[in-house]
Amino acid sequence: GKGAAMVTAVAYRLATQHAERQRVLDALRLSREQLIEVKNRMAMEMNRGLAKESHDKAAVKMLPTYVRSTPDGTERGDFLALDLGGTNFRVLLVRVRSGKRRSVEMHNKIYTIPQETMQGTGEELFDHIVHCIADFLEYMGMKGASLPLGFTFSFPCHQSKLDQGVLIKWTKGFKASGCEGEDVVTLLKDAIHRREEFDLDVVAVVNDTVGTMMTCGYEDPLCEVGLIVGTGTNACYMEEMQNVELVEGDDGRMCVNMEWGAFGDQGELDDFCTEFDRVVDVHSTNPGKQRYEKMISGMYLGEIVRNVLLEFTSKGLLFRGKLSERLKTRGIFETKFLSQIESDRLALRQVRSILQHLGLTSSTCDDSILVKEVCSVVARRAAQLCGAGLAAVVDKIRLNRGLPKLKITVGVDGTLYKLHPHFSSIMHETVRDLSPLCEVTFLQSEDGSGKGAALITAVACRIRDSGQH
Ligand code: BGC
Ligand code: MG
Repeated sequence: GKGAAMVTAVAYRLATQHAERQRVLDALRLSREQLIEVKNRMAMEMNRGLAKESHDKAAVKMLPTYVRSTPDGTERGDFLALDLGGTNFRVLLVRVRSGKRRSVEMHNKIYTIPQETMQGTGEELFDHIVHCIADFLEYMGMKGASLPLGFTFSFPCHQSKLDQGVLIKWTKGFKASGCEGEDVVTLLKDAIHRREEFDLDVVAVVNDTVGTMMTCGYEDPLCEVGLIVGTGTNACYMEEMQNVELVEGDDGRMCVNMEWGAFGDQGELDDFCTEFDRVVDVHSTNPGKQRYEKMISGMYLGEIVRNVLLEFTSKGLLFRGKLSERLKTRGIFETKFLSQIESDRLALRQVRSILQHLGLTSSTCDDSILVKEVCSVVARRAAQLCGAGLAAVVDKIRLNRGLPKLKITVGVDGTLYKLHPHFSSIMHETVRDLSPLCEVTFLQSEDGSGKGAALITAVACRIRDSGQH
């Protein structure tokens, strides 16, 4: 009768809506074949970045870091470290002890970098940094002290020695003018001289991935890869000098800062990108750049989710089809939110209360289920893409050494990796699946970027002071 027809119509509409939602989400789901393809393309890009002849054109820059040796436990002393480019800007005092009391002790203070400073002039940015160093020295009761300093500067830099780094391009929302193409050590020293209050001996410029690898290497000698999945993403590893064509010499190994966030900048990821990725890219401070990073790291995942939700809402599949001003606002979903919403202990009504907190008030229970599903699909894709990249790295190390099997440790840091309830396990599973000949252990670093910069500075000072080269 009529009733049955209506029930059928409703059931039909629900089924259509379900299919429509899944069709959108399917674009964000990657098959195993696609992940293998990502791994293979990453492996190719690594070779292109390393080779002299293709380096200039390569998307993945594979930058030499001039870090060759890992700490051997004999280094000691007090060091300052700066950590710029992660979630917070920090100044640290690091005390390294050798011998039986071998240990690293740290004091640090977090400073904020106002948005205006991040996007103002380079002079303003570096004056602010030096102001923070001065404040820290005073706070520690060390005014006037001149300690060797390691500068963790987590952006792509060309290095021709350890204590120099020419910024190639800002990433992660930074865009202070007059810095790209300049040596950040010079910019820092100029700012110190402008202030005329103290002097510092800048010994090393260090990428956060390298600091993380070094920190974990201090505990575990098998650690020869560093990985960051936080605001941005990147990896470094120990490459054979023979393959590091940009640096003279064939002996031993050097740590290479991959700058893998730029993978995809020449179309390598176009097959896997969705319209959501393209929208997020277009509205970022660096359109066309860091395409892989924009599919993986904390700074962008929330924006991908928001764009998917916008699409669902405008199709009438979510929030009763009402597009709120809030939902149209860029940046409302922080990384923290993605981790919270996927937390297993969270009941749906709590998801709903998070949505309400975000100003998305008209949500129903079904809406909460869908939002959670979107978050999960976006985070899974990120973790799998990251795992596919890492699989290429560990397999390359294995092949470099001609080994049938490789045992290796990856030092990891970053808010997304550490705080998201599923990211790490999905990533580990992907690596295991895509490079079965490598036995990979993951080691979380405690404060890798700051501590690592100090350790690298300590190693450099040990070598310098003993007159070796
Ligand atoms: C930067 C890398 C850095 C990574 C993680 C990227 O945006 O280009 O240098 O290692 O973020 O902080
Ligand atoms: Mg950091």
